[in-house]
Amino acid sequence: MHTNSIIELNRTAYQKNIAFLKTTFGKKVRISSVVKGNAYGHGIKEIVSMAYENGITHFSVFDMEEAKAVKAELLDKVTIMVMGLVQDEDLEWAITNDVEFFVFETARLTKAVKTAKKLNKKAIVHIEVETGMNRTGFEKNEMNKVIALLKKEKEYIFFKGLCTHYAGAESIANYYRVDKQIKRFDDIYQYLCKNDLKPEIKHSACSAASIMFPETRMDMVRIGIMQYGLWPSPEVFVNYLNTKKSKIDPLHRVITWKSKIMSVKKVAIGDFIGYGTSFLAERKMKIAVIPIGYSHGYSRSLSNQGRVLINGHRCIVVGSVNMNMMTVDVTDIEIVKKDDEVVLIGSQNELSVSVASFSDFSNQLNYELLTRISKTIPHKIID
Ligand SMILES: *Cc1c(COP(=O)(O)O)cnc(C)c1O
Repeated sequence: MHTNSIIELNRTAYQKNIAFLKTTFGKKVRISSVVKGNAYGHGIKEIVSMAYENGITHFSVFDMEEAKAVKAELLDKVTIMVMGLVQDEDLEWAITNDVEFFVFETARLTKAVKTAKKLNKKAIVHIEVETGMNRTGFEKNEMNKVIALLKKEKEYIFFKGLCTHYAGAESIANYYRVDKQIKRFDDIYQYLCKNDLKPEIKHSACSAASIMFPETRMDMVRIGIMQYGLWPSPEVFVNYLNTKKSKIDPLHRVITWKSKIMSVKKVAIGDFIGYGTSFLAERKMKIAVIPIGYSHGYSRSLSNQGRVLINGHRCIVVGSVNMNMMTVDVTDIEIVKKDDEVVLIGSQNELSVSVASFSDFSNQLNYELLTRISKTIPHKIID
């Protein structure tokens, strides 16, 4: 276990986010909490237990390993849906445990049928259709085959959901593309209905779509980033605010990532700091060394750019972020010493370093930064 830093999760912030999402979507829309990528770096175990406390009983993951992590925490109390990869050898476990999964290829459908027959238990599937993202999903011209299979094997396949995913709903620039996808999805749904085949539910929205295109909410929304208190993009936030009288951000960042200073040193004018020549001390400087580097998920692209909080001051990263360490400028902080707290993401006194401001610097999305945070960092829920 790594002890150079700690991740704190704010229970109250999480509660507020879920409350906001519930009010926004209303009682008829189920919320599926998306916890892929180690719950966007927050820790799958902690997030699913907090989600469950807040009445969330549906979880979306990428693969079976994540499904098993949710299952280990919440047992049979919740529904788990795998949106991505199901290896052939995982099918048996999934079907036995009522773990639902996306199907986007006939080969997977026939394998699911075969396994279901062997187990004499229904596989619960969500048929993913291609509407314009061009990633995974059945093409419209494959639907007849799918329809025939689902009808023929209805003893072994439960057609739980029809679903799709939008290509970039977080940006207005993709408006026409997403709009077309919404229409295609409905078109395919109508086609199924005409063929006397109806899924129990329809779902398509991620965080961005749920706000930008409310008609995509349907029976269930798959919410990742917003439950963690972050907007998918500034555009989505602005779009949300435009529909509201009060201009207050309803989302609250759940994560705080903290470390401690491991050493403080003086640097003479004209010296370079760290590897190479990327930072030249143009005055006498005081530098704090932090035991966090890119191996812990603090991106190297934050070299000479990232900001951290120390003793209530905002400090800039100087030189390049190394594998296990980085250096920050503390010249203007009078009292600063070994073991003082360093906030990498989160608040200290009145200041805060948000994930979003980070991402602007490094041109990464919130998503990427969060999911890079090393899994080995200890997590703690704070009330
Ligand atoms: C990741 C993902 C989501 C959630 O996306 P957010 O933008 O974090 O809300 C929803 N659906 C699918 C298929 C996904 O892969």
